[in-house]
Amino acid sequence: MVTVKSAAVLGIQAVPIDVEVDIRSGLPGFEIVGMAGLSVKESRERIRSALKNSGFTYPMHKIIVNLAPADLKKTGTLYDLPIAIGILAATGQLPLENLADYLVVGELSLNGELRAIPGLISIAELAQEQGKSLLIPAANSQEAAAACSRVYPVSSLSHAFSFLNNNINIPPIKQAAYVPSVPSGPMGIVKGQQIAKRMLAIAAAGHHHALLVGPPGTGKTLLARSVQSMMPPLSRAEAVEVTKIYSSAGLLPPNSGLITQRPVRMPHHNITKAGLLGGGTNIQPGEVSLASSGVLILDELLEFKSDVLQGLREPLEAKKITIVRANERVTYPTKFLLIATTNACPCGYLGDPYHECRCSHSEIHRYQKKLMGPLLDRIDLFTFLEPLKTEDYYNDHDPSETIPLKSCHPNGLLSDEEVQKIQLSAAVKNLLDKALQRLRLSGRGYYKTIKIAKTIAELDGMSEIQPYHVGEALRYRWEAMNLF
Ligand SMILES: [Zn+2]
Repeated sequence: MVTVKSAAVLGIQAVPIDVEVDIRSGLPGFEIVGMAGLSVKESRERIRSALKNSGFTYPMHKIIVNLAPADLKKTGTLYDLPIAIGILAATGQLPLENLADYLVVGELSLNGELRAIPGLISIAELAQEQGKSLLIPAANSQEAAAACSRVYPVSSLSHAFSFLNNNINIPPIKQAAYVPSVPSGPMGIVKGQQIAKRMLAIAAAGHHHALLVGPPGTGKTLLARSVQSMMPPLSRAEAVEVTKIYSSAGLLPPNSGLITQRPVRMPHHNITKAGLLGGGTNIQPGEVSLASSGVLILDELLEFKSDVLQGLREPLEAKKITIVRANERVTYPTKFLLIATTNACPCGYLGDPYHECRCSHSEIHRYQKKLMGPLLDRIDLFTFLEPLKTEDYYNDHDPSETIPLKSCHPNGLLSDEEVQKIQLSAAVKNLLDKALQRLRLSGRGYYKTIKIAKTIAELDGMSEIQPYHVGEALRYRWEAMNLF
């Protein structure tokens, strides 16, 4: 029996898998056991053709392949290459010596060429941890090299054979230098709306979830899209995590390395709970995970189904989501920044001085009730956008574009205990106490105000929160909007 080391990917986590190949005398046959899913069983035809078409001898005996451990469901096409290599070794066509040093994955075509597989960066991380070398499809090499220093890319089964048989030498792929890319935002396209722009700059710098309320045509969606360009550049650790999520979902194009830009996702309001949160028969990450380390834009928030919105509570709170299916349990990160937009009423014109709102009081109440409660409580910053005035169109100076991007902590992610440790002056405490009474700030609202004020102070280059920072923070609180 021959064992080839391979791996399975659960969410963004790879686990080791042993591909055991045994050739027994008896009637010719090919069996794969060890909780192999349909996609794995289909590999038999590809492997048979690839071996024959590459000029190798296909054994006329019984081939038994066991994927261990057997209590884990195996899916996908990644076992094609390790099984084919195992058959070559078990039939004496390939020497065994080198095999133990390698972790092998890859999909075979019928003529023996290798195709890229999803989730490779997670497998590369496992290989690095285990001190193994990686033998993988060439189209996955950049992605793999970002997480493992011993990556050997091969383009076909024959190529892999020649390498393992020491007929050819392949130098390991060098890791590319990491350079984050920062997109230029469409902020300048929206004229005016200085308060909203300032609020979004605070949201982006300090990781505070924000809601833009206002009538149609005020530039809400464009402004929401510009938040990505105001966030700090993606760190290398974040880039690895984002790439793992996209790779596991099969969304990383072949021959790509690390994703270097913060993702932006803007799902349509018809999206299902599984689409937003993740799920499906073969578990896939949802929009909340595809937006992790980036921006999740929910345009026209109240058009989304209530149960879909309620589902956002766990990912917003825990910064991760666990999806459970029959025998599987998969966790994805959900460190997204939520930027939502909404009209204030069903017709959209509530608060618009130029249009009359035709909604009844009860219609407005019903509409806004959808937003109330748990979700509203988790949004930090609010502002109302008014329709642009004529002079806004002539005002070219855009202060938001000159906001210096001072380094700032993600204060929005601080826990209540961490907020309690922030030193506040007597004047700041006094102002917060007044706000607590006058605006009926909840406990959560009180802590959120301190976190926002801390970000504003840091953007100001100050370590200590001043009363005017609290004043500005309160301006973006729901309680202070006096909207409804
Ligand atoms: Zn209305």
